[in-house]
Amino acid sequence: MALDAIEDGIDPTVQCSGCDAICCRLTVVLDADDTRVPGYLTTRTHEGLRVMARDEEGWCVAVGPDMGCTIYEARPTVCRRFVMGAPYCRDIRQVHHDQLRRGIPLTMY
Ligand code: SF4
Repeated sequence: MALDAIEDGIDPTVQCSGCDAICCRLTVVLDADDTRVPGYLTTRTHEGLRVMARDEEGWCVAVGPDMGCTIYEARPTVCRRFVMGAPYCRDIRQVHHDQLRRGIPLTMY
């Protein structure tokens, strides 16, 4: 199983339980099927895209105090497709950790 995961480009040592929900600081664009996402947690970009609202540090407003998703069962499609430990996940974790180590303020993605 772990070997299959590595061959699929997934690092099984990367786990949400050991992460600061860094993926939840990315811009989350909603699509037409995301009807279960509460409207009060969303906003629109200048371009008119419906997105998850974010707090002043850039985290999605649906992130709870334990860094878990408070709307997990109703989370947007793009969040459902995000693969833990896959190359994109590992890339944004690397950028985040590099910024922290170098004392660079967090940036919006
Ligand atoms: S909706 Fe949930 S999974 Fe998606 S970015 Fe927000 S907190 Fe994370």
